[in-house]
Amino acid sequence: MAPTAILERTTATAVDSIAELKAKIANGHATHPNGAPKSALVRDGPERKPVADDYMYDFKYNAPLPTLERLGTDFAEDTDAVKIAEDFLVTLQAAFADPAKFTSLFIEDGVWRDKIVFAWEYRTFNGTAKIGEAAKDLLANTPVANLKLLSPTPKVDRPYDDLASIQIHFSFDTDKVGASGVANVVKTTEGIKIWTLHTVIESLLDFPELPNRDGHMIAPVSWATQREQDTDFEGRQPDVVIVGGGHNGLMMAARFKALGVSAIIIERNERIGDNWRKRYESLSLHFPHWEDHFPYMPYPEHWPVYTPAGKLGEWLDWYASAMELYAWTSSSVTSCKQEDDGSWRVEVNRGGHGQRVLTPKHLVMATSLAGVPMSPYIPGQEEFKGTLRHSTTHDSSREWVGKKVLVVGTSSSGFDTAYDFARRGVDVTMLQRSPTYIMSLTHSVPRIIGIYEPDKNGKRPDLDECDRMAYSMPVGPSEELGRRLAEDLEVLDHDLLAAMEARGFQTWRGQRGTGTQTLGYSKNGGFYFDAGACERIINGDIKVEQGWIEKFDGHKTILNGGREKEYDLVILATGFSNTIDSVRATLGDDVADRCNDIWGVDEEGELKSAWRDCGVPNLWIMVGTLQHGRYHSKRVSLRIKAMLEGIAGEKYVK
Ligand SMILES: Cc1cc2nc3c(=O)[nH]c(=O)nc-3n(C[C@H](O)[C@H](O)[C@H](O)COP(=O)(O)OP(=O)(O)OC[C@H]3O[C@@H](n4cnc5c(N)ncnc54)[C@H](O)[C@@H]3O)c2cc1C
Repeated sequence: MAPTAILERTTATAVDSIAELKAKIANGHATHPNGAPKSALVRDGPERKPVADDYMYDFKYNAPLPTLERLGTDFAEDTDAVKIAEDFLVTLQAAFADPAKFTSLFIEDGVWRDKIVFAWEYRTFNGTAKIGEAAKDLLANTPVANLKLLSPTPKVDRPYDDLASIQIHFSFDTDKVGASGVANVVKTTEGIKIWTLHTVIESLLDFPELPNRDGHMIAPVSWATQREQDTDFEGRQPDVVIVGGGHNGLMMAARFKALGVSAIIIERNERIGDNWRKRYESLSLHFPHWEDHFPYMPYPEHWPVYTPAGKLGEWLDWYASAMELYAWTSSSVTSCKQEDDGSWRVEVNRGGHGQRVLTPKHLVMATSLAGVPMSPYIPGQEEFKGTLRHSTTHDSSREWVGKKVLVVGTSSSGFDTAYDFARRGVDVTMLQRSPTYIMSLTHSVPRIIGIYEPDKNGKRPDLDECDRMAYSMPVGPSEELGRRLAEDLEVLDHDLLAAMEARGFQTWRGQRGTGTQTLGYSKNGGFYFDAGACERIINGDIKVEQGWIEKFDGHKTILNGGREKEYDLVILATGFSNTIDSVRATLGDDVADRCNDIWGVDEEGELKSAWRDCGVPNLWIMVGTLQHGRYHSKRVSLRIKAMLEGIAGEKYVK
């Protein structure tokens, strides 16, 4: 069952205590435009910013939203959005052949984001000056045809009273690729204009996905033996080596298979799926599975809303088997060198199967966004009489009933871990060093992934359509909308946040005031989507201390300011280093030194190296959530296939 709002699900006693806690909160409510009390009062006092606005986030083309006031006009009540969309496509089709005309279709702050259709790279062009330059360079070389309207049926969207646009989904072809586009158009005093345009590769016209195999068993060996032989790659070389067999590695392998690109996964764990099986036993995914389906093989009906980690581990294994992916488990890269022609020489220790040398053209790193577990050194830790461990090596609270536990760190893993102890009645405290972005699932889920939710009869919406929608907004406008969403969620979550603050837990509104919008791309941490632990803080089951551990002294844990405490177990839920550490450890210094920053947003609003050119030719960094994996594996595999077939266009670098 999905968690509900904190006040709806607390017991009578707990509600009393929340009322008491709320009473402690300063009066003087400001009012939100929609009439709700503005939750800025939650954090009366100096603003606390644990992450600088520009931390791993270099975007510099912020522009105000095209509000009705700025545009000076609005869509009429009886607007025929379908007619507008049809006319728009006719105009756009002609404009693709005329860079100046194309540019003039945008409002001045308009944004064009292209994924591998024209730029053969992920690129964002912010504002008409940049759009004009790119259009001049790119459109002349790329004939466009066959623009056709796609679902959903266009309508006037009014997410806020002061904002109105029509979203137009369409397909089109260039001379090489099948593509989709999403235009968000607004009404201006000069007519309909583009606010944002997103053009995305969907297929290669001359290299479509392979048809189904016949499957009749006419080979001299069984299916299982054949599969073993294929997996061995004896006497042949793969086009691509994928390091890491989590969902990102598997989804890439499945895409390659469908495109007829041979790929092998190198996975250090004994079994595919161990990456989830071996996480702490109380872990379920933090968001409903609606947006998490794997390519070609969606979850079966009646799948639990929040997927248990152990079940996801099994699913990865089933997926690898059902899709007949090739994976060498218990295997690791022992050396790696890039040849002068850009191909790779990868030596692999195949567990019990000896050493092998692979020479793929492309290498994909799918070893997770997290680098290696990060544990701060704490003076006196060698002589600490209790137990000290990183959250990655902690699996259950079962052994610790009757003991005292400190969880250091207040992001998702810290919360999950503390919640697990609290549910067993263990005396547990969370140590918080800097504020955490908190949101309830009740209010955020419908707003963030509501488009993916099945209807009341369990019928799922069209995933491609949802993905087009979910990815249609470039970073700039998305940041502006994210700020509004974060403010709205803060109002809706007011009671929850206020009660947490009253217990001494510090919250904030996220980097650039955008909740998870920006944090998700820069820090990939520093937030918690309330899966139940907040209530335990509010009712006192989980205690909160501010600060950090200064040192250990025998049995004692000394917090800053000389606060002496005693804990039997200290868990460092202090996160991970950057993926670059994993690249360095696996591929060596030469490759890691040439690699751009991993994750983080560049000036124009693209990720710095994920899913695109990472600075090292023929090396690809596949990271992100299940939804990211499904979406980007398609684009990256098509780009690699086009490169292998020699039809990829030049990457646009201006
Ligand atoms: C508490 C929590 C809740 C989450 N909730 C959600 C959610 O609701 N929805 C969502 O989409 N995501 C969620 N995530 C995030 C995300 O899906 C995971 O972090 C995910 O594991 C990332 O997948 P990946 O394939 O990139 O990496 P991983 O799953 O970490 O897989 C990487 C694989 O590579 C292997 N590997 C690493 N290095 C090497 C090497 N050098 N050689 C060989 N093999 C190697 C590892 O053994 C592992 O199997 C959650 C994460 C956590 C921790």
